[in-house]
Amino acid sequence: MQTHEIRRRFLDHFVRAGHTEVPSASLILDDPNLLFVNAGMVQFKPYFLGQQTPPYPRATSVQKCVRTGDIEEVGVTTRHNTFFQMAGNFSFGDYFKEDAIRFAWELITRSQEDGGYGFDPGRIWVTAYEADPEAAELWRKVAGIPDERIQFRDGKDNYWDMGVPGPGGPCSEIYYDRGPEYGRDGGPVADEDRYLEIWNLVFMQDIRGEDSPKLGHPPIGVLPKKNIDTGMGIERIALLLQGVDNVYETDLLRPIIDRAEELTGRSYGVEHADDVRFRVIADHARTSAMLIADGVNPGNDGRGYVLRRLLRRIVRSARLLGAEQPVMSQFMRVVSELMAPSYPELSTDFARIETVAVGEETAFRKTLATGSRLFDETVEEVKAATPSGKTGRISGADAFTLHDTYGFPIDLTLEMASEAGLSVDEAGFRSLMAEQRQRAKEDAHARKHAHADLSVYKELVDRGDTEFTGFDELTSEARVLA
Ligand code: ATP
Ligand code: MG
Ligand code: MG
Ligand code: MG
Repeated sequence: MQTHEIRRRFLDHFVRAGHTEVPSASLILDDPNLLFVNAGMVQFKPYFLGQQTPPYPRATSVQKCVRTGDIEEVGVTTRHNTFFQMAGNFSFGDYFKEDAIRFAWELITRSQEDGGYGFDPGRIWVTAYEADPEAAELWRKVAGIPDERIQFRDGKDNYWDMGVPGPGGPCSEIYYDRGPEYGRDGGPVADEDRYLEIWNLVFMQDIRGEDSPKLGHPPIGVLPKKNIDTGMGIERIALLLQGVDNVYETDLLRPIIDRAEELTGRSYGVEHADDVRFRVIADHARTSAMLIADGVNPGNDGRGYVLRRLLRRIVRSARLLGAEQPVMSQFMRVVSELMAPSYPELSTDFARIETVAVGEETAFRKTLATGSRLFDETVEEVKAATPSGKTGRISGADAFTLHDTYGFPIDLTLEMASEAGLSVDEAGFRSLMAEQRQRAKEDAHARKHAHADLSVYKELVDRGDTEFTGFDELTSEARVLA
């Protein structure tokens, strides 16, 4: 089943159940908390916070999401994209736990002939919050899931809140068992690669105070109107229904890998290190195009810096795969063809998207050329200082300068060093990076606190029942700066 059909079936299912279909919001919303929209509920926050009256009691959407915090996982795990599509259903003080569980269960287990996804119910596992026996009871009652396939988790994994006093509630996650060839027995608690998380249900029922139930503190009250917020990963459903090993091989990403094979002359599925690069290219090319479409330009901080990093990683991955020539235009072209059916702006705005992406590629290729000159000089110096018969070593400080001043990524330095018969003091490099990361974190923290626009929370604060303190995306941003 193609991704397009998976989306359509989700929306149809919930529209039939009385939900209003709401289009995806832009990836860029004016939210002081977030670099990018990272979940379906973000555009509905004012309803959940009681700041606005929802125009409908129930809604469904497929939201564009970007999670920079998952960047290190890309290509390494089988299930993390930086851009993905989160399908969701939402109840604003309307239906609650039992219906949320029933709606999800019906869609995933109904046969494909009848409009569902047709998953074998015997392979579905669920988790529930340890202090939410009601959810487990409902999974037994509504879905007939036996106790052996219901696992409990603590607040860190299965409690949701916004990081600030306000609404919160237990979650229940739905997993599909891909089988013993994918990992250990024992359910999602034991292995999240074998047991693939496909859907997260949030039962917004509590008011949390200063201290989060995530960390074991009890909520301070009960919400007068209970809400439902769910998120299902479209790419993960596609992975399962298309019978492929990972999200990068699904129908909207694999053709980018095919294009990368043509451009680099190397094949996917031969060397693990190459495969990771192919997947990084597929993932990042799509994310970059979607970000540019929503108005992000490469830059030196914030959103622009994330985009710059993504585009540069594409160039460097392609180069490590052996591409000598520019690649970006080709990648943008294939992404546009794949995504335009759901996101027409990728086609109508293609010329601009291509210009922005190619501009960054050109600039980075220049940087690499300059860095290569410094690299060659360094090699000469190291060789001259190394007694014959010994292997010379590029210092951590030189590797760091190449990275920091010339934007020369460490894996490129390592590869070129090994071609020149040298090693690199990687540990020294990493410790200099760690110091820099620490500084970036402190800067980001200072910046966030300096620029946060607190006005949207003012009303709540005025009511005296909340206070704005949390910055969920902070760690993600600091990580991506590395
Ligand atoms: P994981 O534990 O696998 O990182 P999560 O618990 O962080 O996922 P949620 O925040 O619950 O994910 O998001 C709801 C759903 O969105 C998930 O159940 C999953 O299907 C999907 N999803 C989350 N992160 C990603 C991602 N990086 N790439 C693709 N799909 C994702
Ligand atoms: Mg995650
Ligand atoms: Mg999870
Ligand atoms: Mg989850």
